[in-house]
Amino acid sequence: MNPVVDIDICIGCGNCMEICPSVFQVMDEKCKVIDPEACEFFECCEAAEENCPVEAITLEE
Ligand code: SF4
Repeated sequence: MNPVVDIDICIGCGNCMEICPSVFQVMDEKCKVIDPEACEFFECCEAAEENCPVEAITLEE
């Protein structure tokens, strides 16, 4: 599972980083995927996707 963030949509709210800090990091009000492979270990990416208020996160297979 590969998490992708559409930074054109992201509003930098920080929800994803709070839920899944190993994978997502917000800097300068935009989210960045810092370790996509961590999705396999921490199983928090789906919750991060569901809690993004603007649906900027996509989980690619
Ligand atoms: S939850 Fe969505 S809008 Fe908020 S920082 Fe993460 S990707 Fe951006």
